[in-house]
Amino acid sequence: MSNTVIIGGGAAGMMAAIQLLRNGEKVTVFEKNEKLGKKLYITGKGRCNVTNACAVEDIFANIVSNERFMYSSINAFNNYDVMGFFDELGVPLKVERGDRVFPESDKSSDILKALTDEMKRLGCNIMLNTTVKDIVLDETKVSGVVSGDGRFIGADNVIVATGGLSYPSTGSTGDGYRFAKKCGHTVSELSPALVPFNVKEDYVKELMGLSLKNVSIKIMPENTKESGNKVLYEEFGEMLFTHFGVSGPIILSASGRLAKRLKTENLRAEVDLKPALTVEQLDARILRDFAELQNKSFKNALDSLLPKKLIPVIIRLSGISAEKKINAVSKQERTRLVDLIKAFPFTVTGLRDYNEAIITQGGVCVKEINPKTMKSKLIDGLYFVGEVLDVDALTGGFNLQLAWSSAHAAAMDIVKCQS
Ligand SMILES: Cc1cc2nc3c(=O)[nH]c(=O)nc-3n(C[C@H](O)[C@H](O)[C@H](O)COP(=O)(O)OP(=O)(O)OC[C@H]3O[C@@H](n4cnc5c(N)ncnc54)[C@H](O)[C@@H]3O)c2cc1C
Repeated sequence: MSNTVIIGGGAAGMMAAIQLLRNGEKVTVFEKNEKLGKKLYITGKGRCNVTNACAVEDIFANIVSNERFMYSSINAFNNYDVMGFFDELGVPLKVERGDRVFPESDKSSDILKALTDEMKRLGCNIMLNTTVKDIVLDETKVSGVVSGDGRFIGADNVIVATGGLSYPSTGSTGDGYRFAKKCGHTVSELSPALVPFNVKEDYVKELMGLSLKNVSIKIMPENTKESGNKVLYEEFGEMLFTHFGVSGPIILSASGRLAKRLKTENLRAEVDLKPALTVEQLDARILRDFAELQNKSFKNALDSLLPKKLIPVIIRLSGISAEKKINAVSKQERTRLVDLIKAFPFTVTGLRDYNEAIITQGGVCVKEINPKTMKSKLIDGLYFVGEVLDVDALTGGFNLQLAWSSAHAAAMDIVKCQS
């Protein structure tokens, strides 16, 4: 039996602990907070989107960074294994839109309780309110960790499961990156991701609170003339206007793909407010509406077409006078209106910060980690699992899947080395 220290009692740390304990290993989990899994508790708006019920091979298309690195560990402990794991622990699950898997109770606390109860049942040594401040090496092998009060705790293996930098109030303050660097590892550039966008135009902020369903967005380099209208990201779904810019599912997914680019340049977004209609169909629809409202002013012509909050902004951007009689609106003006509705424009100036980011992009360089075992290629007995690694995915339960699979891989390697 070996003695493993796990730094961090989040999703990955808890999964690693359970897999080790079930195989008779001795485990101590150090968690700086007063309780385990603070971030897990707030996942999925308190409902915990624990994984995704897609075909296993479809997981990889939802991994943004280093999906090949995750092949072995996900195939060894996939989304269906995760569902079976929670089922066995007595947490019934359900599948929702987009194959998102949640506890049937809609309570993340049920997932958290199942994990913590299992750790306790298996005799895990759980050190709450205890920060690890350092990893101690004996040349190229770990020998233990040092806690915040300066105590040395010896260990045969150390698993770093400290998470990233997002939502630092949950305890993930980037300590793992410091440990990695100290042990000679490279940490790739870090960025908030799955995070809302800041937007330049004031008219977008006027739309605060407006939520749009069934729209499509295209995001391009700011100078579309130079780039030849190259579309960097395109998605259909739901978005939301806020006091700083835009948020909502399609925006968060866009940030996963464009986070690095937005650090150095602005991007241009166009929202198609009526994606189900072609330009010609939309023009015909507007003509029909106009025919019924001949003597009304333009400002009253869009009520059946657009959400109320959007109308004054669209009127202003169209350049058509709000008081103009509808029968006086020219074909050219109508074309401008159609173009605006099919491509409502704004400039994305950057990302919101880590306090609002679901995940951190970047992390411990995967070239220095064995993908089958999550073991450091530089230091014997050292493992990295979960968000601290340079792997990240889109929303839909995929980030937790990365945590579960990588944690399982590390635990199984430690078990194998003992047998
Ligand atoms: C609001 C929000 C909602 C989300 N919803 C979902 C979702 O529904 N589905 C999904 O798949 N993903 C979701 N995610 C992402 C997911 O929560 C993370 O990817 C996942 O929690 C990462 O797990 P982890 O164990 O690597 O890190 P964490 O869960 O962050 O755990 C790291 C732990 O390590 C502890 N720690 C850090 N440093 C030290 C130290 N030096 N000493 C001791 N302890 C330390 C921290 O206190 C923390 O408890 C969400 C994230 C956020 C912020």
